[in-house]
Amino acid sequence: MSKKAEHTPTFEESAKAYLDNTQLRRNIGHATHTIRDKRENVVDEMPDWEALREAGDAIKTHTMRHLDEYLLQLEESVQEAGGQVHWARDAEEANQIITGLVKGKKVNEAVKVKSITTDEIGLNKALAEEGIQALETDLAELIVQLAGDEPSHILVPAIHKNRAEIRELFKEKLNKDELSDRPEDLAEAARLYLRKKFLNAKVGISGANFAVAETGTVAVVESEGNGRMCTTLPDTLITVMGIEKVIPRWRDFEVFMQLLPRSSTAERMNPYNSFWTGVTEGDGPQEFHVVLLDNGRTKVLADEMGRQTLNCIRCSACLNVCPVYERTGGHAYNSVYPGPIGAILTPQLKGLDDEGAASLPYASTLCGACYEVCPVKINIPDVLVHLRGKIVDEQKRNGGLKSKFEPEHIGMKLLSRAFANSKRYERAQKVARSGQKLFADEGVISKLPGYLSKWTNTRDLKAIPDQTFREWWRQRDE
Ligand code: SF4
Repeated sequence: MSKKAEHTPTFEESAKAYLDNTQLRRNIGHATHTIRDKRENVVDEMPDWEALREAGDAIKTHTMRHLDEYLLQLEESVQEAGGQVHWARDAEEANQIITGLVKGKKVNEAVKVKSITTDEIGLNKALAEEGIQALETDLAELIVQLAGDEPSHILVPAIHKNRAEIRELFKEKLNKDELSDRPEDLAEAARLYLRKKFLNAKVGISGANFAVAETGTVAVVESEGNGRMCTTLPDTLITVMGIEKVIPRWRDFEVFMQLLPRSSTAERMNPYNSFWTGVTEGDGPQEFHVVLLDNGRTKVLADEMGRQTLNCIRCSACLNVCPVYERTGGHAYNSVYPGPIGAILTPQLKGLDDEGAASLPYASTLCGACYEVCPVKINIPDVLVHLRGKIVDEQKRNGGLKSKFEPEHIGMKLLSRAFANSKRYERAQKVARSGQKLFADEGVISKLPGYLSKWTNTRDLKAIPDQTFREWWRQRDE
């Protein structure tokens, strides 16, 4: 998402195509329901779950308030431990730094741990332009890469593909004549292919789930062990992380290591938790670089309401409960961050002048399910409404005369006048009551004409009652 990001289609335009794909809907519905049921069970086991969420929120909120101090502390700690720190203002700078480092090693291949931050900056493409292949080693990312596809979920990037589709892909791309669609067999085929790559890799590239300011320790949690291979086998390790991934103290892991696995994979603990601090002679990578990426994050930080978006620990629980995501899948968001978190993060990182990004805060029913499951209590519905307000303000400011005469704008103006004064409100009720006679049937309005039909196309409207409470009250006193 560089400053010169291309304009993307709106969510509404893209979602239409995906809504027609019943196979995709079945794949996604099945996967999200399975994960969310499992998550509920492991969360219910924790009597202090709410206290943990509070703690996660508190640590993250505190860190964001003092982000400048913690980042400088992190830089110092990494350097003290023998690592090197690079600061990248945007995607372009980050890619330049990383491709420069890889080219310096005179290799044409690097192994990669699944990292959404590298997707955000388009690292694989930038490396490919320099003749370097970035090889995804996470099973789902490998599937997406071999298919020439895009990830559609933060945690399960190939959630839109079923086993039969994956078998066909592996048969073709990994030269397997015979292959069943059993998960074990598919995983084994990928394992054999990747093992050779790991053993020859000179450079590993990773993202980071967390980086500890006080010790300079970087952490990656994962389920397959490929991340551990990438962070230990190559001579050079390059980590790229958004600046919001810093946490103040080692002790903070106590909170996040309980919140993250339960919220993401519905496990009590991640099978592989890798922590590394700088370099150690004779053990693991001998050169370690960390690239600290801004790419719009300081802009998000400056917005008091939007800032909480940076607290996200990318667990993806909000995706798995979102009724909109469940029906459209991740690609409709046209962003590496899909689902509810994408609907608030992408427009803030990309800017509201991008039409596609500005459509995302509307990709929600505001049901609040995302807020209920978020392990760090990000109030996604509040941020969505806040962003919608900003978009409307922006349109009013820049839309010229036309925007001032938009029916929605005029309607809202009239409503705000009516709500501001009780007499006006009652008069408006009376007018609406006589106006609704043509449309109301047994207290329900199912079809409104013209512009107003946008409301009743998707839901019924309750008719204004024959007598309001106030009217009844006054009558009672007479
Ligand atoms: S917003 Fe909350 S629930 Fe969604 S991915 Fe981030 S931490 Fe998880």
